[in-house]
Amino acid sequence: MITEKLHAAFVQQFGASGAQYTSPGRINLIGEHVDYNGGYVLPGAIDKAIFLEIRPNGTNKSRVFSQDYNERAEFGLNETDKPQQPWAHYVFGVARELIKRGGKIEGFDAVFTGNVPLGAGLSSSAALESVFAFALNELFACGVEKKQLAVVGQMTEHHYAGVKCGIMDQFASVFGKKNHLIRLNCDTLEYEYVPCELGNYRLVLVDSCVKHTLVDSPYDRRRESCERVVKAIAQRHPQVKVLAHATWDMLKEVQSTVSEVDYRRATFVVGEIKRVEKVCAALKNGDLEEVGKNMYATHQGLSKDYEVSCEEVDFLSECAQKYGAAGARIMGGGFGGCTINLVKSESYDNFVEKIAKDYTAKFGLAPKVYDVKIEDGARVIADK
Ligand code: ADP
Ligand code: MG
Repeated sequence: MITEKLHAAFVQQFGASGAQYTSPGRINLIGEHVDYNGGYVLPGAIDKAIFLEIRPNGTNKSRVFSQDYNERAEFGLNETDKPQQPWAHYVFGVARELIKRGGKIEGFDAVFTGNVPLGAGLSSSAALESVFAFALNELFACGVEKKQLAVVGQMTEHHYAGVKCGIMDQFASVFGKKNHLIRLNCDTLEYEYVPCELGNYRLVLVDSCVKHTLVDSPYDRRRESCERVVKAIAQRHPQVKVLAHATWDMLKEVQSTVSEVDYRRATFVVGEIKRVEKVCAALKNGDLEEVGKNMYATHQGLSKDYEVSCEEVDFLSECAQKYGAAGARIMGGGFGGCTINLVKSESYDNFVEKIAKDYTAKFGLAPKVYDVKIEDGARVIADK
């Protein structure tokens, strides 16, 4: 068991015991590139997580061992004490962000390990941030509320990892609930749990194992397109501050005044926001085929209108359709990474076998396949 191995490593490193915590990675069923447009996203925490054993050590130095990298970092908790190892930046950053919010954190000993695939779009970094945020907040009685714990993780990315991410990943990792997705407004952090009963279907991730780095910062370009369209609409409808406030009619009104590309980007976003609503309704009705149809529509939009897919991931989505998946779409920022697939249990074996075979034949690269279940978020496993 992962927690037993974790404990053995803790004993070996520090000759004592600590309390154990865990916090998971996440998927997002639908609602892609809508966080910065004021729409809803629909993430869920998954059964792949970071596991942590930790105790205060009574000094002003922290000692943290990464079991997976077999590396130890030691650091103080002042702003100038940032450790060398990239993985330790997340731990240090979380402690610093808690301290900035009034937490009285002192030295701690910690060992952590995990089974969230790194860099596959399942947000292993958010899992790492969230588990430390949750544990340190408890151990040192910082009194930071749960939503702020997610913000602590997000700000760790901004200030200590150089990634200007939204709040979704950390929020899902902290707030995850077994068999539920989180319908989250990324602006206001209002949320509700949506039951996710998959019945005879499974969620499967297929990792293309490619990541194209693009010079032109496509993420920023997409944001700018959305902002220009909002500006055009707001000239006639000043109440529209983000694309989530816009209707199809408003969009049509400005079609001739914005560029063809900007218009196309905006149609994706407005359509995607509607799809999140449709998927929530379909989940309520237990209509998983309808959920799947919307996932395919999202993929189409992300590929052709928003243009954040790539040849490899488009191929995975086409294969999914060919081999009977109810739905499939690119998940995450784009230009590589995973597809998320909704697959009937009876076609699962055939699906996995065929898609791997076709992908390898075409790209000379074996895709990775991950089954995911929707699980609880950050939590204590065992007190010391
Ligand atoms: P992701 O999409 O998985 O979040 P990132 O590049 O944002 O990818 O985060 C991955 C980084 O998080 C790793 O390079 C490492 O520094 C840290 N990390 C994640 N999981 C672990 C782990 N199990 N052990 C050590 N570090 C980890
Ligand atoms: Mg990350």
